[in-house]
Amino acid sequence: MSVYADLGIRPLINAWGTVTAVGGSLMDPDVLDAMREAAASFVDLHVLQRRAGERIAGLLGVEAACVTAGAAAGLTLTAAACMTAQSPERASLLQPTSGLSEECLMLHPHRNRYDRAVTLGGARVVDVGGATTAPGDLHAAVTDRTAMLLYMAESEAVPGSLPLREVCAIMHEHGIPVVVDAAAEIPPRSRLLEYFDGGADLIVVSGGKQIRGPQSSGLILGKEALVARCAAIGYPNHGIGRGMKTDKETIVGLVKAVELFVRRDEAADFARWEAMADALVHRLGASDTLLARRHVPEGPGIQPAGIPRAYVTPLGRTAAEVQTRLREADPAVAVGVDGDDIAINPQCLEPDQVDLVVGAVEEACA
Ligand SMILES: *Cc1c(COP(=O)(O)O)cnc(C)c1O
Repeated sequence: MSVYADLGIRPLINAWGTVTAVGGSLMDPDVLDAMREAAASFVDLHVLQRRAGERIAGLLGVEAACVTAGAAAGLTLTAAACMTAQSPERASLLQPTSGLSEECLMLHPHRNRYDRAVTLGGARVVDVGGATTAPGDLHAAVTDRTAMLLYMAESEAVPGSLPLREVCAIMHEHGIPVVVDAAAEIPPRSRLLEYFDGGADLIVVSGGKQIRGPQSSGLILGKEALVARCAAIGYPNHGIGRGMKTDKETIVGLVKAVELFVRRDEAADFARWEAMADALVHRLGASDTLLARRHVPEGPGIQPAGIPRAYVTPLGRTAAEVQTRLREADPAVAVGVDGDDIAINPQCLEPDQVDLVVGAVEEACA
């Protein structure tokens, strides 16, 4: 790995998951080949964006799609697009603010570290409800300045939340679109269409997580008119998204990644993750400095839910301390922390890395 060694950086073994801060996911060699080919010629970026969106929409079975520079960029674009719904001529402005409906409703328990992405788009987040939210709170929150509601898929099960279906029904009574942040909710693939069944108008997804496209890519999916408005202010147009560049290589790479993604054998993926989680738990079970168990997180805030993990409770150290020790170990291993446990997620792990992870965890807990 001389490109990293040249910079004095050690590669990590990723036992954490599709986490942005450690690189998201790894692209398939076919995706890299497509990007290399794309890099060899000039092309009309406007046409490429449009054709890529059409192809991806067809592959995923959704009405329309637009390639963005990530899910967070997608949130910024959807906010600006919803705010200019009544005045599309303003959609090309770099700061589509003053005089527009700028309120983005969010259920209070859905507030999170990504909600500033809609603020960047010119929206102002309006908190709805408190520890609990009643349907009446949502009705009462709608004003003539409401542009959209942002629904965090990972927070659907948080205490005080309301189901997506109910939120969409209420918002649609008022003619307000609902945007779902589903950046890291796949697998399973079927979840994407479930959000539309629930009434979502737009969803944003990362291209660089389970889809395994370029890390700096993402998708806005959904209703044709809204997606078209997002595209109109997105790269390479001179709207608020002009700086959120998706180069030709990224666009072509994401198309190829989506082609592979829809064909991937998901049952085989789950079987591989299952086998790795079992092997980790079994091997770590022999150690007397930790407790290991299999755990399938389904609760709120865990992305993606449903993948079996190995959860490790260190007996003589805190989980955070063990996490740090693993990052400093050789080879360095990235893991998650969930409460008092280290969460080992096999999503980005290869079966031949299990032994290394077991050894590193035992050493870090000792
Ligand atoms: C990762 C993530 C994002 C950002 O996605 P990028 O593609 O990295 O921009 C937004 N929201 C949630 C919930 C995420 O997990």
